[in-house]
Amino acid sequence: MKRTTLLTLCFLTLALTARAAENLGTLGGHPRWSVLEGYQETITRDEFAHLIKDVYCTHGFAPDLIEIDTAAARILTNRGSQKFFILQFAKDDASRDPVPRLWHPAKSLPPAKADNPLSGLRIALDPGHLGGEWAKMEERWFQVGNTQPVQEGDLTLKVARLLAPRLRELGAKVFFVRNSNEPVTAKRPDDFRELARKILIRNGVPQPRSDVLDPNDPEKEQTIRWQSEILFYRYSEIRRRAALVNFKLHPDLVLCLHFNAEGWGDPNNPILTDINHLHLLVNGSYLQQELEYDDERFEMIRRLLSRAYGEELPLADTIATAMAREIKLPPYEYPTTNSTTKVGTSGNVYARNLLATRLYRCPVVYCEPYVMNSKDAFARIQAGDYEGTRNVNGLERKSIFREYADSVADGLVEYYSKARSATARSGGL
Ligand SMILES: [Zn+2]
Repeated sequence: MKRTTLLTLCFLTLALTARAAENLGTLGGHPRWSVLEGYQETITRDEFAHLIKDVYCTHGFAPDLIEIDTAAARILTNRGSQKFFILQFAKDDASRDPVPRLWHPAKSLPPAKADNPLSGLRIALDPGHLGGEWAKMEERWFQVGNTQPVQEGDLTLKVARLLAPRLRELGAKVFFVRNSNEPVTAKRPDDFRELARKILIRNGVPQPRSDVLDPNDPEKEQTIRWQSEILFYRYSEIRRRAALVNFKLHPDLVLCLHFNAEGWGDPNNPILTDINHLHLLVNGSYLQQELEYDDERFEMIRRLLSRAYGEELPLADTIATAMAREIKLPPYEYPTTNSTTKVGTSGNVYARNLLATRLYRCPVVYCEPYVMNSKDAFARIQAGDYEGTRNVNGLERKSIFREYADSVADGLVEYYSKARSATARSGGL
């Protein structure tokens, strides 16, 4: 081996050791704090303090993580090395520098014609989960007797495919983050077996079992199989989707489409319930332990500074109001406030730190209508998609998929029509 190669190896080892001192979340990337230099003097102290207190850090945080002084905030980048990022505040709104961002807020778009309210807008549709052959692994699968299995990833894709042409008719450029039952990530569960083993050992399972016994195995989460699968279909998959959104699609908005569920127990003999509801999520409400991760803290601050919240909250509120009106479901009330914070005015929107809402670098509205294992939604899912209306469960109505897609489209029309006519008015002054 040549000496230079040896030296390179030494440096690599040193670099890896230095990085190991970072406290990163699962499959988390090395935070590039220097990127935040572009946000110097783009926010006032009052706005920063408000977003920290009321949106992103509603559960508090260790006092050394973020210190807000009069002229600047000091944000811990690495506790081991006691390094900090200093963010200088703008003195007031009039003197603050423009916010660097690749997405376009509604107010920055030119006025649109009434029949084209989404013109010039780039919308990415992110149908949640994978469905198909992965649905059982994702635990987004149940079957009642011999009826058609319910697979959330298939349902969300169906909604996305109905929504896309409607949004295009309204003038938007529409992209799919996923448009098949295949993962975006090239990795597979077997690629994560070693990492899964390490995670389990670190979490106090000294000799993790290799395989799950059956779907009802009470200790399945402590097996290498279960951990490597979740590393694949959640962490790796969503991080790859984020790379697609952030580096290729560059949308002005991502719509994450999901169906909700209540605990269904045994997927082969699921509990059907009378409970059915609706809610939407935007990013925020980080837990204290999440803020301890250097990458999550960095991503939270980057998101805060991008002001995505100023766009996604009124947008989520408007979509939620349209959905509540059209699909006629009550708002979901989380049983505790441990991980979420209710925000906005519609009563249907919560802030929560989900991987997708955190990583996609633009406004993200995450929809969770319908309880798939409610008796009503289940009957409608079994009825499938159809045009017009049909009598299902004693009521004449649209297919559940069209009702979902139409209500989201109507909310978007309401939001952008109003926001862009406001642009036209202020532009005319
Ligand atoms: Zn989901």
